Amino acid sequence: MPVIASNRINNPVDAEQILLNGDADLISMARPFLADPAILTKAYENRVEDINTCIACNQACLDHVFELKPASCLVNPEAGRELELELIPATVKKRVLVIGAGPGGIEAARVLALRGHQVVLADQNDAIGGQLNFSRIVPGKSEFNETIRYYKTQLSKLNVQVRLKHRITADDPLVAQADEIIIATGIEPRKPDILGVNNEYVVSYKDIFEDRVPVKENIVIIGGGGVACDLAILLKQKGAKEITMLQRSKAFARGIGKTTRWATLMELNMKNIRMIGGISEYKAIDQGEITFLREGALRSIPADLIVYASGQLPNNSLYNKLTESKKPVHIIGGAKDASELDAKKAIYEGTIVAREI
Ligand SMILES: Cc1cc2nc3c(=O)[nH]c(=O)nc-3n(C[C@H](O)[C@H](O)[C@H](O)COP(=O)(O)OP(=O)(O)OC[C@H]3O[C@@H](n4cnc5c(N)ncnc54)[C@H](O)[C@@H]3O)c2cc1C
Ligand code: SF4
Repeated sequence: MPVIASNRINNPVDAEQILLNGDADLISMARPFLADPAILTKAYENRVEDINTCIACNQACLDHVFELKPASCLVNPEAGRELELELIPATVKKRVLVIGAGPGGIEAARVLALRGHQVVLADQNDAIGGQLNFSRIVPGKSEFNETIRYYKTQLSKLNVQVRLKHRITADDPLVAQADEIIIATGIEPRKPDILGVNNEYVVSYKDIFEDRVPVKENIVIIGGGGVACDLAILLKQKGAKEITMLQRSKAFARGIGKTTRWATLMELNMKNIRMIGGISEYKAIDQGEITFLREGALRSIPADLIVYASGQLPNNSLYNKLTESKKPVHIIGGAKDASELDAKKAIYEGTIVAREI
């Protein structure tokens, strides 16, 4: 009886190994072809490092289908839009400065370089990826490493000048040298307006992901969206004993697609992470406690660390300064609009802006 192996075989090396082991007669793949329609050609030509790997996020394929939208791919927005997103070589080759190497910036830099522009990509961090470097350390999300590997390889092959540990300010010579500028500077976490939020035991999710704060045993997270859920799962792995998530809305993990949300909620439950929604007002953070009003009753929860993951604000101050210059300045991703932001939106905007220059 011929046997076909299927599901989450997302690279040709694994596929080949399964066949070599005699574990199956055929391999079936679907999503990896959305992420990279040239996957087999690249494997055949021994260019595995060039493959844009499917990361199993489901965000633009299955989630779109369940919402009756055309299927595409988070890591390859061209999927399903092949006619609309043609790659046309630039008629006038320009020097383009891309500020911020998050998903929006790296995709913009890749496409600009493919079209023949001379591209400088600057980031204040010591690595490309922006907030993908947060998602990739969340248990179960390590496949984002493949996206970073893909972009690193492509940017290098396309001779994009990547300037890391380089924070751009309005008077940077790179700004003066550029013909056009793309601002992809992402977001800053939004600090909730609660009395006592400036206490030293109140930090942002970014402080945790950047390892600036030691993890404590008893933690309250303000927020219940995708980032807050990932944060809770990471904190549990890092040794937190009691975790409570608080939010105004009653539904947790909102914003995560249909195919993944149930699994995230199940994981939070299995890890005994307490979720308290329906909070009408946060009263204060004081003496190691957060006090809030819920269903007409005041309630306090003790915590030795409080982390807010309750929204983001666009990091757009540089855009506001640079628009005063005479150069064309474009803005994408979180820097443009932090609401409903995710890597899918940032990469899509990166690919679009790079076709407009
Ligand atoms: C824990 C976590 C999990 C997530 N999981 C997912 C997920 O599963 N799926 C999904 O789609 N999205 C996920 N996201 C969201 C996604 O990562 C972000 O929406 C996306 O990274 C935003 O992309 P961006 O390009 O706009 O900006 P960012 O990723 O924020 O990158 C901006 C970059 O600009 C740099 N920068 C800022 N100012 C300057 C300056 N002046 N000079 C030089 N560099 C500068 C920063 O250092 C940063 O690297 C997750 C986010 C977090 C925090
Ligand atoms: S959207 Fe995500 S799961 Fe779907 S094909 Fe693309 S990378 Fe894979």
